[in-house]
Amino acid sequence: MHTADVVLIGGGIVGSSVAYHLVAAGCKNVLVLERETTQGKGSTGKSMGGVRAQFSTPVNIQMSLYSIPFYASFEERLGYPCDYRPQGYLFCATSEKHMSYLRSNYEKQIAMGLKNVRLVAGDEIRGQFPLLRGDDIVGGSFCSTDGFVDPYSAMNGFMTWASDHGATLWKNADVTGMSRNIHDGGFEVRSTRETVSTRTVVNCAGPWADPVAKMVGIDLPIEPLRRMLVPTEPFDQFPHTAPMIIDMSNGFHFRPESRGFLLAWNDPEETPGYKADFDAGFIEKILTRAADRVPVFENVAVNPKRAWAGLYEMTPDHHPILGESREVPGFFFANGFSGHGVMHAPATGKILSDLILTGKTDLIDATLLNFSRFAEGRMIHETAVL
Ligand SMILES: Cc1cc2nc3c(=O)[nH]c(=O)nc-3n(C[C@H](O)[C@H](O)[C@H](O)COP(=O)(O)OP(=O)(O)OC[C@H]3O[C@@H](n4cnc5c(N)ncnc54)[C@H](O)[C@@H]3O)c2cc1C
Repeated sequence: MHTADVVLIGGGIVGSSVAYHLVAAGCKNVLVLERETTQGKGSTGKSMGGVRAQFSTPVNIQMSLYSIPFYASFEERLGYPCDYRPQGYLFCATSEKHMSYLRSNYEKQIAMGLKNVRLVAGDEIRGQFPLLRGDDIVGGSFCSTDGFVDPYSAMNGFMTWASDHGATLWKNADVTGMSRNIHDGGFEVRSTRETVSTRTVVNCAGPWADPVAKMVGIDLPIEPLRRMLVPTEPFDQFPHTAPMIIDMSNGFHFRPESRGFLLAWNDPEETPGYKADFDAGFIEKILTRAADRVPVFENVAVNPKRAWAGLYEMTPDHHPILGESREVPGFFFANGFSGHGVMHAPATGKILSDLILTGKTDLIDATLLNFSRFAEGRMIHETAVL
């Protein structure tokens, strides 16, 4: 039977980053099992590619403080590009309640050591972006090292580096079940390619994390939730140097992409489920919000055929589940990123690699994000979810 020191289930950006960090730390016999014929068909290939440190909880800020500098030096470290563009994230508050929320987040971010974040006045936003409808904007917060990456390139960079240095990626390897080996306490991982024997399994299955966890008898509180994105046709009436701009009155946000813009809005009426189809009715809903905040978007053209849908992997407290299962020793989670899996993939890879190889990590207090927090009533709620 094929053997590996560590088996990763799922070859999206998270599995790829865990593979990279394990190999870089000297653990070379790593096998990644990906059920698709190519990588990136899960959430990674559907992502908006936003990276930010402007979060409301210290642990999420810490994950970004590792991940964003990592993306900034990605090509230097790995030899492959990830197309990090530090154009910033600008949160625009339209009420005093939102402004005081941003102020309290800002204080936490500064306390954690984030350097490039600042609060901005409404007049500054109106001066800098006269094409935004700014009459109701009371202020905002901006971080210049936030920005965008190309998730697909980052995933490929991680996995190519890992493969070049010892890891193995099997595509068309759908994991269908797992059993414990009664002789050595390890796992037999059954896949459509081959069965693999290992002592350590990492669940990197994105929105399919719960079905994979069920193979070892664990129910994960992770629900798939559809998110839809609408790219515009080429459009030059708004500056392409713009950051990700978030209208806090309704959650509409957008960023430059190629010669046009990528428009996003999370429909509060969306319900959980494995829904991967794009709903054409969404176009009108999002364009209404787009034109309300950016009146020149009334002239923007969109081709519904280029719009897409993907799945967020939501946990009840909007934080990931990281680390080893107490119930099934040797089975690790890297799941439930609640819309932040691209930006937090570098930190996740480092944390998982540390925990697998040494049993501890300095990057975060890993007990905060373990699976036991749900049973023990220790949820920590992230509210800055887009
Ligand atoms: C529309 C949209 C916009 C987003 N925008 C952002 C953003 O701006 N910034 C950000 O940080 N995040 C964003 N996200 C979230 C981000 O894309 C995800 O959190 C991230 O891609 C998760 O990566 P992953 O590797 O865990 O999952 P995935 O990319 O889904 O990879 C999981 C892999 O596991 C494989 N798999 C599943 N089951 C099995 C099995 N049984 N056997 C073998 N393989 C299996 C799948 O085929 C898949 O390739 C967005 C998501 C969506 C949908």
